[in-house]
Amino acid sequence: MKWKKNHRRGYSCILLAIIMIGGITLFFERAGSSFGRTVSTSLLFKLADSYQAGTIYDRNKTVIGRGVEVGKMEWGLEADAMDACSNLIGTPIQTTFASSYTVLGMAAPNLYGYYQNRFTNWKDWLFPRKRIGDDVTLTIDCAMQEEIYKTIKNFSNACVTVINYKTGEILAMVSVPTFDIRDEEALQLDENGVIDASYNNSAYINKNLHATYMPGSTIKPILLAIALDAHPELKDFVYICEEGNHTFGNMTIDCFDGEFHRKMNLNDGIRLSCNGFAIAMSLEMSEEELEEGLKRWELDAAKQYENRFACDSSSFYGKGEHSQVNRILGSIGQGNCRVNIYELSSMYGAIFFNGIRKDPVLIQTENNTNSKETIVCTEETAKKLQKALISVVEEGTGASYCMKEEGITIGGKTGTADVNLETGERTVWAVAGILEEDMPYVVTVCLADQGKEASGGTTAGPVMKEVLKKIVYKR
Ligand SMILES: [Zn+2]
Repeated sequence: MKWKKNHRRGYSCILLAIIMIGGITLFFERAGSSFGRTVSTSLLFKLADSYQAGTIYDRNKTVIGRGVEVGKMEWGLEADAMDACSNLIGTPIQTTFASSYTVLGMAAPNLYGYYQNRFTNWKDWLFPRKRIGDDVTLTIDCAMQEEIYKTIKNFSNACVTVINYKTGEILAMVSVPTFDIRDEEALQLDENGVIDASYNNSAYINKNLHATYMPGSTIKPILLAIALDAHPELKDFVYICEEGNHTFGNMTIDCFDGEFHRKMNLNDGIRLSCNGFAIAMSLEMSEEELEEGLKRWELDAAKQYENRFACDSSSFYGKGEHSQVNRILGSIGQGNCRVNIYELSSMYGAIFFNGIRKDPVLIQTENNTNSKETIVCTEETAKKLQKALISVVEEGTGASYCMKEEGITIGGKTGTADVNLETGERTVWAVAGILEEDMPYVVTVCLADQGKEASGGTTAGPVMKEVLKKIVYKR
């Protein structure tokens, strides 16, 4: 008899243990998200299958889209504005492996009621209500998004990002081509029901977040900031750009179009984008100093952002070895060097915000003006670069988007990357930082798939000017 009793007690213990483990698991499953961990994709799929999505607003409370029934959204904007937002919002999360790069993916826990507690009201037990997720407000300005889209929609492969460098808020993120989000039937799905991510120059994907590009000369200010922080005396560094002085290690690297810039100091080296200057100055650093700096700027160190924000990581060396050749090529944004457009914008934001880099905010929360910040360079270094970047736009390679006549101070940098020397394929860039109290924005224009006649200053610059005019006149 005694044996039987113990036996039964044993079973009770096992049962209790199972209940406890189950309870702890459930607790962590729920609590996990509030600790900033990711919610499992399968759970989100389940929620999306039982909840009607909430409403998505832009920063001015314009309705972008709202759930009308489970699995069905209704889109609220006019044609151009909706097209401008489509690949930022993303295809339904069940149709893409890239959902974490979209609003639908990042906002999914809110939109599909993950944070709702349905069992505080006893009526919910007896009479289950229709499950409707929470509303979400983005930092995106749909009107700005639409204007930018109209400016670049005829390019075959182009992106523009606008961020507020003092708050980290993302105001616009346009990626063309895009797709018609209202026409779900038209989605190109494979046999597993997943979108073809490369379809039509990645039309379903917002390439500001989910792609990386060869940066060309736009990487130089970042690299020179690292050099200046490691060796403040380099502020007086001088390089003589002339024939016979362009060999580094056993590589000869000319300046753009074989030009010779003669005597270059920091300001002129950046203003005229002298390759020799950037390489020679960055070679003044030790490899350890460079790598320490790259890490601080989150180059070659995949950054994890809070609140489910995701973008591809930028890299200086890429998968290439840390050799002198790759270092020289990386110093002018060629070779294995690749940047994500959002991240490059954010790095420039740090230069314009005196060395402070803000984490991104795409979905508004109560403390969104207080996003995490990192000091990436000293204020002294940032100020020196600001001065040089202003001279780029006022009297250098960025003159095509100068706004002096309009009374606006702009600092910036252009870039021309030779993606494929055989075909002449280029990616061209223009970056602008608006140095006005009420518009602390960084704007980045990236045009991919360009030909060998294109350059940052002459091709991306005029596009930047159009974009800046629209932003400035709209304020
Ligand atoms: Zn030069």
